[in-house]
Amino acid sequence: MDAKPRHRAWFESLHDPSERYGLDEVVYTARDGGLLQVVHDMGELRKTSGDGWKRLFEERAHKNEWPYGSGVWGKKEWVCPEIDNENVVSMYEGHSNLFWAERYGRELGIEDLWIKQCGNSHTGSFKDLGMTVLVSMVKEMIARGKQIPAVACASTGDTSAALSAYAAAAGIPAIVFLPRGKISVAQLIQPVANGAMVFALDTDFDGCMEIVKQVAEKDGIYLANSMNSLRIEGQKTVGIEIIQQFDWEVPDWFVIPGGNLGNVSALAKGIDLLLELGMISRKPRIVCAQAEAANPLYLSYQRDFRVFEPIAARPTLASAIQIGNPVSYEKAVEALRRYDGIVEQATEAELAEACAHADRTGLFNCPHTGVALAATKKLAERGTIRKGDRVVVISTAHGLKFVDFKVRYHSMTLDDIAPELPNPPIELEARYQTVRDEMWRQIERRFPNGRAR
Ligand SMILES: *Cc1c(COP(=O)(O)O)cnc(C)c1O
Repeated sequence: MDAKPRHRAWFESLHDPSERYGLDEVVYTARDGGLLQVVHDMGELRKTSGDGWKRLFEERAHKNEWPYGSGVWGKKEWVCPEIDNENVVSMYEGHSNLFWAERYGRELGIEDLWIKQCGNSHTGSFKDLGMTVLVSMVKEMIARGKQIPAVACASTGDTSAALSAYAAAAGIPAIVFLPRGKISVAQLIQPVANGAMVFALDTDFDGCMEIVKQVAEKDGIYLANSMNSLRIEGQKTVGIEIIQQFDWEVPDWFVIPGGNLGNVSALAKGIDLLLELGMISRKPRIVCAQAEAANPLYLSYQRDFRVFEPIAARPTLASAIQIGNPVSYEKAVEALRRYDGIVEQATEAELAEACAHADRTGLFNCPHTGVALAATKKLAERGTIRKGDRVVVISTAHGLKFVDFKVRYHSMTLDDIAPELPNPPIELEARYQTVRDEMWRQIERRFPNGRAR
């Protein structure tokens, strides 16, 4: 057992700093109905110098001392300091690779383009970063004698996969509410395989959200959606980790896809800490990218965030961000204001082509990452992002979770999209001469003068 930790954190109302709750209390919203945020005892964090934190984080990275080898728990003091290490539920998430997209960047006219591969994670999306914190806190609460019958979430797919895996690892019952027929097969099979109670409801994400809020309120089921700000604490490590991967140099831009808007808020919150603790001195800019079919933040940005109107999100290939009434809207606006933010959008054709183009350079993108890539391209074309700027696109999930989308793209069966870069298999009889002729035809077509086009 650890000695009693020095570092402390608590829930606090966004609007009233005197309204506070312990992180082991079952509470999701403030008395005024707004969200809570996790606030850390900054006095205590400041007792360690910026260089001291850097050394500590670097020492822990890629080592195996439980639980500090996790990219999230390696920053435990900044994330959720009061959990007993024995109650941490971790798959050693984080430490995902930061890929220099040299060839793709050159083709977009950005020399210093990087993709943070958050999908290279236990359940294939960045949702693991937040879920490890939430499920660990549930395990801690149960150890402290709290009655928690189960943990539940509404999900567009990836949240339920993460919840199901972490809850299964901890032996805690998990319940997921999914919009029937609106998520990918891979996303559905993960909670099924992990033994969660899977409810496929005849509604959309926002409808599932209404149900989960009711079972949380009326039945004491613990709510695992990102309105529970514990998740934000884990997710906020992504920006810190990226800056650490650049030896504490700050990139010029972060581009991140947004649906419920927890992740963009989390990204900013992590960078806030680096600034407050004097570990960096420059601010990056943040771009939040939305699908045009689900763009309430984009519409609000068009009006300087003066008004916000929830919309009915239309179907999009980027199904994890098909959200019309984002719960973290207010936090996201604050975040974008602090980081000179931009909101951009991408149509279905734009996101599909961005994925396909980037895949041609060795990536394997999910459609949400496609939204961010398409936004990056537009900003580069407009000259907002300049040639020499260092740009980091946050890839939120692994492309393998969304193969149905890629199969349809390459077999040219997507509705209303005429693919520009389809690459269907070439079907031939198994005869050397036939194969040989076609092979050379293809090589010459694709690599004229022996060079990639
Ligand atoms: C959840 C999710 C998002 C959106 O994150 P928000 O916090 O809801 O804005 C983007 N991409 C993928 C793959 C996701 O699973």
